[in-house]
Amino acid sequence: MIKRMVAVAALIPAMMGAASGVASAQPAPKATAAVVTLTYDASRAGQWAAAVTAGVQNWNSAVHNVHLQPVSSGARADYVYVATSGWPQTTLGPILPGGRGQVQLGQEAVAEGYDMTRIAAHETGHILGLLDDYSGPCSEIMSGHGPGTSCTNAKPNTAEAARVDSNYANRTAAAVPARYPVVVDVWSAPDLARSH
Ligand SMILES: [Zn+2]
Repeated sequence: MIKRMVAVAALIPAMMGAASGVASAQPAPKATAAVVTLTYDASRAGQWAAAVTAGVQNWNSAVHNVHLQPVSSGARADYVYVATSGWPQTTLGPILPGGRGQVQLGQEAVAEGYDMTRIAAHETGHILGLLDDYSGPCSEIMSGHGPGTSCTNAKPNTAEAARVDSNYANRTAAAVPARYPVVVDVWSAPDLARSH
């Protein structure tokens, strides 16, 4: 019994020493901006798989404050890509880590003649917090169906990339909203879109 008490008493100063050692060894906070990593699950993207990969790559090349990466198996993704038979529709972000975003890749837009990679990249733009700008030029990804089916540009322009970077600046510790709005994109003839 006495031996055990001695052993405990001897441990206390050692523990205190270790604790203060850890505290003094804390590195100074780094000044570099933190990148938000968003994970996605494209396992239900079906025939859109290549378009999703290309669209994600275009965004990752253009922005600095957020990075999109496939979720590791078994983990829950921050957003998902799902192939559907309807019109594309997407959760309007900026989706944050722990969020529950969904991109519905609607076949109707393909039936209308629109480019799958442009559609996937456009809908991903909504995940990153960008709104539609149907009257914009083909060089914008958020102009969507506006410039017509001949427009196959699948890359954001510099203004769009800057807006996404601003959406994700200093957001690594931001609270996740309970609910996000959803944007429905009718990728139909530009004339129809202009009438409303
Ligand atoms: Zn849209």
